[in-house]
Amino acid sequence: MAVPDLVLLHPPSVMDFRKRTLLMGPVSDLIPSTPVFDMYPIGFTTMASHLESRGWEVRIANVATRMLASSRFDPDRFVRSLDAAMFGIDLHWMPHVQGALELARMVKRHHPDRPVLMGGFSASYYHADLLRGHPEVDFVLRGDSVEVPLERLSEAVEKGKGLEEVPNLTWRLDGSVKVNPLSHVPDSLDEVLIDYGLMVRKVLRYRDLEGHLPYRNWKSNPMSIAVSVRGCTHNCVNCAGSCDSFGRNFGRSSPAYRSPRLLADDVARAEEHVKGATFVVGDIRQQGRKYASEFLAELRRRKVRNEIVLELFTPCDAAFAKEVSASLDRFSVQMSPETHDEVVRKAQGKPYANVGVERSAEAFLDAGCGRFDLFFMIGLPGQTPGSVEGTVRYVERLYDRFRGKRLFPFISPLAPFLDPGGNAFEHPEKHGFKVLARTLEEHAQLSTMPSWKYVLNYETRWMTRDQIVDASYSAGLGMNDIKERMGLIPRDTAERTRSRIMAARELSGMIDAVVSKDGWNEADLAALRDSAKDLSESTVCEKEELDWTDNSFYASIPRMVGSLLRKR
Ligand code: SF4
Repeated sequence: MAVPDLVLLHPPSVMDFRKRTLLMGPVSDLIPSTPVFDMYPIGFTTMASHLESRGWEVRIANVATRMLASSRFDPDRFVRSLDAAMFGIDLHWMPHVQGALELARMVKRHHPDRPVLMGGFSASYYHADLLRGHPEVDFVLRGDSVEVPLERLSEAVEKGKGLEEVPNLTWRLDGSVKVNPLSHVPDSLDEVLIDYGLMVRKVLRYRDLEGHLPYRNWKSNPMSIAVSVRGCTHNCVNCAGSCDSFGRNFGRSSPAYRSPRLLADDVARAEEHVKGATFVVGDIRQQGRKYASEFLAELRRRKVRNEIVLELFTPCDAAFAKEVSASLDRFSVQMSPETHDEVVRKAQGKPYANVGVERSAEAFLDAGCGRFDLFFMIGLPGQTPGSVEGTVRYVERLYDRFRGKRLFPFISPLAPFLDPGGNAFEHPEKHGFKVLARTLEEHAQLSTMPSWKYVLNYETRWMTRDQIVDASYSAGLGMNDIKERMGLIPRDTAERTRSRIMAARELSGMIDAVVSKDGWNEADLAALRDSAKDLSESTVCEKEELDWTDNSFYASIPRMVGSLLRKR
């Protein structure tokens, strides 16, 4: 088999997570990933789609899912067995920093002559540090749109050409770091390709199903993604994807949108390959209601049958909910008011009222929404432990008001990291945060701490790390009690969750006792390792509560085969 031009590798958050005692806590309860953040970024698919459309051969290898799938899988042996003209590793969100750096070292050790590329939000933010302090990293492609720069870089690598003309590239020349202009920042997403059939073809070509899965649970809860926007018009203080952060770090002064027709094409093509929910990234009203109406009309014309998951960044009116309902067979909605406290919400960057949240939920639930998910968070500016308790009480009132309807509130900590590049990280004093790690190395070191309390890279003026952890477990217990009392989850599920939270809390205390001693080491924690592993997933709720559909990977097989036969 020919050597691929590029192998894209996705690391686990901590490379040797299987050998360490890590109580990862509820940090990933509300996303499809496991606590090792095994979901690779959508950028892998758009980069691979772009290069493949230009004749390059790209392989995706999700090292994290393979490590989770088999204890016998040896990442070092696997990396040694690979070859490629260039290796790419994502460092998009900061929780991957330790895994990404370790994986880069592994690649360099086995393939010293092959260049190692990193990309993603965090790599862009730390681009110069990566090149200065990490000889295992040869290139960083900066910004939110690196498909075209990657093609230029691949050409330069293949032909041994100079790199001065590759846009967005940070690289090394004779030991000094070169920073090419961040000049490729397209103002529209219409040139971006998402080849939804790519994964199926690659699985067959490389006989590697696990390595191409976007995340471990994809087979039981398959989901596809359509991206409406890069950039954001909002400014949530913790977020590196905010308007201010895009301007500061990724050279983007305004969001780039995908045209409604192409976005609807994406959704329809996703349905040809995957029977499961399609998540539309970005509030489709961000560019205005006209954009949203055009997109919905395009979907209506295409008679989409998959469940469509939409995001609301701000409250909506009943007319919008009705329009969605008239356009889609099945749809669900997600909204993140973060807290019941409107003052705290405003400090977090979301200046809207509870009445708007409730009206939106009512409008969508009345319009036939499959489920309306509400996400609340712990660790916000101005938020105290008492305020978190208030959020739990508010959730109870919501359950009461929407009794019998498909409203699903969730609460989890803002963890593990404030995003480097976000407003809170850049101006912690102003927003009431204390940042406990600044550099790549400090974050990598935090990542390997034995419990999630010590991994948090921040405290707030209102809550210490201890209080954030304690409030998270208390809120988890409170939510669980409410759901049981209202008959929303069976008693045995509630009992399981309750036991898990209590056990996690107890284990957290046991880890504290070890860590408080001078000179502690990993061996002192060995007896706690299995418990930590068992208690690191579905801590404050069962992950299945987030699943959108009852489909499985196997329900998608006929579509995948059909798409292969049609060669699309
Ligand atoms: S968290 Fe806030 S700032 Fe970040 S992408 Fe979502 S709406 Fe935009």
